[in-house]
Amino acid sequence: MQKIAGSFLQRTAPSIRACAKRPITQPVRRCIPQHPPRFYAVAANAPLAEKLRVNGDRLWDDIHYTAQYSLPSPGGITRLCASAEDKLARDWFKDQVMALGADYKVNATGSQFALFPGEDLSIPPIAMGSHLDSVGTGGKFDGPLGVLGALEVIRSLKEQGIKTRAPIVLINWTNEEGARFWPFLGSSIVYAGQSTVEEAHASLTHDGSGVRMGDELKKIGYVGDGPNTFEEFPISAHFEIHVEQADSLEKAGKPIGWFTGWQGMTWYSVSLKGDDGHANTYPMYGRRDALVGAAKMIVELEQLAYDRNGYTTMTNIRSGPWGACNIQSDVRMAFCLMNKDGTLLETMGSDIEAKVKGIAAMHGLEMSMTRDVHLPPGDFWPEATDCIIRACGTEGMAAITGTGHDSTMTTRLVPTGMVVARAKGGWSHSPKEWTDKDDCTKSALALGRAVLNFDDYMKTKAA
Ligand SMILES: [Zn+2]
Repeated sequence: MQKIAGSFLQRTAPSIRACAKRPITQPVRRCIPQHPPRFYAVAANAPLAEKLRVNGDRLWDDIHYTAQYSLPSPGGITRLCASAEDKLARDWFKDQVMALGADYKVNATGSQFALFPGEDLSIPPIAMGSHLDSVGTGGKFDGPLGVLGALEVIRSLKEQGIKTRAPIVLINWTNEEGARFWPFLGSSIVYAGQSTVEEAHASLTHDGSGVRMGDELKKIGYVGDGPNTFEEFPISAHFEIHVEQADSLEKAGKPIGWFTGWQGMTWYSVSLKGDDGHANTYPMYGRRDALVGAAKMIVELEQLAYDRNGYTTMTNIRSGPWGACNIQSDVRMAFCLMNKDGTLLETMGSDIEAKVKGIAAMHGLEMSMTRDVHLPPGDFWPEATDCIIRACGTEGMAAITGTGHDSTMTTRLVPTGMVVARAKGGWSHSPKEWTDKDDCTKSALALGRAVLNFDDYMKTKAA
């Protein structure tokens, strides 16, 4: 490994902005243009950004080739974090970046870092990152488009002899989805200083089996000695492509765009304990049936979304004891609340807490409830988003993301922006998820140009 300031071995303090560590509950609100200026042309790309082209055929082939690293999942992929399929996708990714001459590392939470030098090795690299893991019965684009689009940018920069001033790092973040282990954003949350390697390793599977993420990562050979935190390995900025997971671009006839920010989100876990008893013989009156209580909570949860103009979903429920003749005495469930308005999100939280307590009291159930994750709504950085707006030119529009991404962690540290690609019908986390080849190509080009615009912006700022 080359001994350069831009290598993993010599990372010191960030030079462009001190790490502003904030509690995860603190809102991040910034002023971001919702639309390109109406009466003026969108500002031009930096000269190198204008020069860049990407190879859409190669990107499209990569998206479909890597979709084989999946459990049987017709039309989509099922590539859960730290599974055998995840290992295959990671190994493939490593081969690709090594062939491009990357300075390559895996960190303790399994994230893969591929570092490429720039002209000035004293500058923290500009990052492009997303995730190769998927949800169960997910689509081919949520995550992979972000990593493979970034890979295509690196290949194109090399082929076209375009040299950046700052180094560039390509990151495949671990357990973004939280589909197998909870909490989600399992590695970027550590990088952002909101959790620790130990906590990430102790993340448990949703099925109650007690399997831990750290052990499973070790099994597939993906616990490494690479950098875990921003302090160890600062970056200058983070850019990510993501499919919209909604249909505003499609409705507006726009292929690409930028996320101005994200809606707020809260996850709860609830445990209900009642009485064991014979399902066929115990009198109906006087039962403490935990599953009946849970059923009423699900109905209340759905109503809450309509009452508060948000989203609510019961995402996991386990009930026991198993058997044909058992009253259900033990129920564990998890649900999420989403709202674009931070105050309404808080209100949704207090509403549902009151409902859950009332239902538990009515059925004589012992109840415990914890708020596991709470991320208020916020905005990405104007200086990063402006680079994407310029990269999109007249083809882009603003959107807001309904959920969390690795970028919602890096945005706590450095200028972060997200390129959005049109999603057919707004489908996501489904085999129906689809983004046309042309839109994938345009999103990768916008990502590459945004990175080059940011490189130019830092150069101008330093001059
Ligand atoms: Zn994603």
